[in-house]
Amino acid sequence: MDDSNSVQQEKILDLKSLLKASTHTTILTGAGMSTESGIPDFRSRSGWWKNIDPLTVATVDALEHNYALFHDFYKMRLITLETTAPHEGHYTLSKWEEKNLINDIATQNVDGLHRTAGSNKIHELHGSIETFRCHTCHSRATKAQFLDKKACHQCNGKLRPNVVLFGETLPQAAWNKALLSIEKADLVIVIGTSLQVYPVNQLPFMTKGHTVLINKELSSTHHFELAIEGGAKQVLTRIDNVL
Ligand code: NAD
Repeated sequence: MDDSNSVQQEKILDLKSLLKASTHTTILTGAGMSTESGIPDFRSRSGWWKNIDPLTVATVDALEHNYALFHDFYKMRLITLETTAPHEGHYTLSKWEEKNLINDIATQNVDGLHRTAGSNKIHELHGSIETFRCHTCHSRATKAQFLDKKACHQCNGKLRPNVVLFGETLPQAAWNKALLSIEKADLVIVIGTSLQVYPVNQLPFMTKGHTVLINKELSSTHHFELAIEGGAKQVLTRIDNVL
């Protein structure tokens, strides 16, 4: 359940003040940022594909030992993405970047929706589902080659999207830029993530600035200065309306 209307409004006004006073604001988003665009997150069971926990498929182990399942899963995600568009919340963040209200978006999402909405300073901590490579020799591949289940033209290896699978390390450049931004920030706004995935779940607490969480469900284990319970689209739109 969301915060009641009046409680949410009070918190929204608090966040507005923080946002206006801040000279460097970093946004950190997770799968909950995109659920209202129709892309399921990983932890809400309603979003599970074929009743399979995605956390067991988006893995190096599945890629190497159960490629048919891995391929079906990413094919489904790519096909879903073809008919998916950013929502008002994504557009609000892009507008805030243009108005210099926010500086960077660090995201765990691989869907590219922040980019489609027009944001420019995006650090994709878990890679992108829009580009492809060979798992073995890293040669570039195309979406069509992946969807057609082709093997790598260089080494016959397995093709895959450029996402970070569970069990892999994060892209160094994206991580460094996100960390730098968070260290500089006097405000970090975290949106739609369960913060269960390491090391990204450490990032919000590496700032000396204020920390705010916007999430559909609030967990008592997270220590944010301000926590707003509600959907990303609705909360971001409400903040924008009072700015
Ligand atoms: P998660 O599934 O673990 O958690 C999502 C969180 O968002 C939950 O706490 C949920 O309550 C909340 N949420 C759901 N809908 C919301 C909404 N409308 N507004 C606000 N909050 C909402 O996701 P995670 O923490 O990002 O970690 C999962 C991993 O899966 C990440 O590594 C990510 O790369 C990947 N993933 C990406 C996408 C995508 O690119 N869109 C989708 C699913 C998973």
